[in-house]
Amino acid sequence: MSYQPTVPLDKLPSHFISHDTESHKKWHTGSVTRFASPFVDVFKDRIDFDPIVMAHATTLLGFTNRDFYESPEIAVHCVAYFNELFDLLPVAHFFYSNVFLEKYGVKLQTTNTLPWIAVGDRVVKSPEDADKLPKFEKEDLKPEKCKTTELHWRAFDYEKANIPDMMLPMHNVFCLFSMAAELVGPEKFIIWTRKEPKACHKVLDSLAYTSASGASLTADKYGFDMMVIGSVLANSTVLPPKYVKEFSFDHQRDFVRRALAGGGGPQLWYHLCGDHSRDYTMWKDVITTPFTVMHIGYYGDDVFPSDLLKKEFGNRMSMLAVIDGKRMIEPNFAWIYEQSKKQLLGGRDAPRGCILGTTCETPLITNPGCTLAAVKACKDYGTYGTW
Ligand SMILES: [Zn+2]
Repeated sequence: MSYQPTVPLDKLPSHFISHDTESHKKWHTGSVTRFASPFVDVFKDRIDFDPIVMAHATTLLGFTNRDFYESPEIAVHCVAYFNELFDLLPVAHFFYSNVFLEKYGVKLQTTNTLPWIAVGDRVVKSPEDADKLPKFEKEDLKPEKCKTTELHWRAFDYEKANIPDMMLPMHNVFCLFSMAAELVGPEKFIIWTRKEPKACHKVLDSLAYTSASGASLTADKYGFDMMVIGSVLANSTVLPPKYVKEFSFDHQRDFVRRALAGGGGPQLWYHLCGDHSRDYTMWKDVITTPFTVMHIGYYGDDVFPSDLLKKEFGNRMSMLAVIDGKRMIEPNFAWIYEQSKKQLLGGRDAPRGCILGTTCETPLITNPGCTLAAVKACKDYGTYGTW
């Protein structure tokens, strides 16, 4: 399926309103102060709402799902506009799952409703194949040799040229365990954790090494990069806690150590997707920097309670209290408002600050009324004490 951007990329900036306008500058100055407050302990305005918006930003604004993933220029400009529309974050991000897999020979494609997904044969068919997996160096990951780097750098270069006030260089690790599962096949990889643990570690070692090279390469070019580290498929529903530790946590640690040494960070964002009711306590031992956010989706079927997140993590890192992303598509704005209120009241006095967000990426067909409901709850309950 061939793809054409909805707007020619050379015409794209002219479709948006310049960030030099007074109205934008005024909004942005306020948003920056608010966004910085959890990290500098000078609380201003109110708690922020971060819906982890991806292709919903492009589709809501009249572009397409594929525009987000295949034209990162459209992605970041739409995220920037979406953030101003709902009075959200002062930065525009671009990232997606399944990064660097193409270097291993995985074929990836987007559809009208899906992000980059792996199609075709699995690359690692036997434990011997795992032994042969390469570890990529920075040189191998330059944009002319690596689609992942090309797409991300196109986003950051576009931001630098057109919306520099909202530029955010990022390195998304996604989930090393999920990506290893893409190389092997998810069911098979989960069975391998019991039957072929050495092969699993080989695959994970390679991915952690490659990803750390990627983080370092991006930091070399832009000076720093916010790193998003996930444990997505490795969660309490799929694996017993000791396996989450061995096959996800330990490799993430290895990645973070290498990436920080290579110039990545300093901001770290830990995204624990899905149910982490049985393994959340181990994540207290993650490597942190002064700019670390902990984001946990679910506790069983329920959203991870913000008071528990505060109790377990609040002293060491900033936290993302969550509302249920699945419900963001429904026309039940009061429900979103009430859950936001509950999670804000539970987390708003966290010592290192709190952001309200969704359990995972806000869905493609998110109802804008729900986004507004969460922002309204932040305005009404996301303040306390001297704020
Ligand atoms: Zn997620």
